[in-house]
Amino acid sequence: MHELGVVFHIVDEVEKVAKENNVKHISKVTLEIGEVSTIVPDYFRDCFKWTTDKSEIMKGCTLDLIILKAMTYCENCKGTYETVKYGKTCPHCSSDKTYLITGSEVNIKSVETDDE
Ligand SMILES: [Zn+2]
Repeated sequence: MHELGVVFHIVDEVEKVAKENNVKHISKVTLEIGEVSTIVPDYFRDCFKWTTDKSEIMKGCTLDLIILKAMTYCENCKGTYETVKYGKTCPHCSSDKTYLITGSEVNIKSVETDDE
């Protein structure tokens, strides 16, 4: 139930921003989700709909998911490469002194309102 926790967090954040800006209804939320985050998009959408249906501010709101490509950095050759393709081993120098630089995040990219 990891997705549900993330959804609760995002709905909280969006509602907070909406209240601070006197927005009555949010019509669309765009999120960036890293390729290797543990989020399953279909399941995430279901959780999002279930949660926002209970929210006055976010009821019926559209969810747009942008998947960000995961990139890994190699300490040995200072290169970067696509994480999903090569995993933990650098394709340039075969070193395993590598770490993920992007791809595990979940960010709120934009929020739209349909207030008059
Ligand atoms: Zn390398």
